[in-house]
Amino acid sequence: MRQQHTISRSVSCSGVGLHTGQPISLTLNPAPPDTGILFVCHQEGRTVSFGASIRNLMSTDLCTALSANGTLVKTVEHLLAALVGLEVDNVYVELDGGEIPAMDGSASAFVRLIRSAGITPQERPQPYLKILRPIEISEGGRRVAIAPAATTKITCSVEYNHPMIQQQTYEYDWSVASFEQDIADARTFAFLKEVEALWARGLAKGGSLDNTVVLSEDGIVNESGLRFENEFVRHKVLDLIGDMALLGVPVIGHLTADRSGHALHSKLVQAILSQPDSWVLLNAQEEAVAPQSIYARPAHKPAVALQAASAA
Ligand code: ZN
Repeated sequence: MRQQHTISRSVSCSGVGLHTGQPISLTLNPAPPDTGILFVCHQEGRTVSFGASIRNLMSTDLCTALSANGTLVKTVEHLLAALVGLEVDNVYVELDGGEIPAMDGSASAFVRLIRSAGITPQERPQPYLKILRPIEISEGGRRVAIAPAATTKITCSVEYNHPMIQQQTYEYDWSVASFEQDIADARTFAFLKEVEALWARGLAKGGSLDNTVVLSEDGIVNESGLRFENEFVRHKVLDLIGDMALLGVPVIGHLTADRSGHALHSKLVQAILSQPDSWVLLNAQEEAVAPQSIYARPAHKPAVALQAASAA
């Protein structure tokens, strides 16, 4: 168990949104204990704040998008992965556009940004959700599951009928060092024929070889090559880490993902929250609150804290 963390000072970066193609500035600001990850969006002359929570999930089509009070933020998963991967629990994410900048298509730019800010421990212990009973979601040969374990682990498999991928499996034991070394640099990928179809529909406007590994019929288009021979499955681990952040607290358990994606990941988060007899919240210091569903809780509270209190 550990203390909660925030960043030591405000830091900014800017880039283009993968799907919107818009230039966007992003600033990370320190936040008090129990804030969680809170988006503060300045759009069209107004400011809207909402938490990185499954209750604000808008879409899992091509990326994970959150929305509240008429404000949409696309492609949150790589930033969320960097924050939870480095165990930054409390932060305000200020944005002047509707998407997180793509940067290089991985989490590495966000990791560098967080490292340049520094990470500060806070006075409160971090709650953890410990899985007690297995939960599984499967659909059409795709599967994601979580089972009890002493520590947090991910076993992730991908399968594509492409000579550069075929079948890849990756075992990830949760640690900040391993996240930085093994996962954060893995970039998003797409097939050339899909990219061309997206562009024809006016989608993926900001997509380029600078932020996506593009697969041709029998190889990759990017001249710089791959960062890891199994970069594809490593990126799926990155996506799963980012999507699991929508739980609101870190989880202790063994995650297994076979050919999964954002939609299935979000269904697992929803399934976990809807089965409070399958887990216990460790380190919770919430005062007792009236029973209420997670959908009624304030936006900035960790999703499970109130539900655990109401279930107790
Ligand atoms: Zn991704």
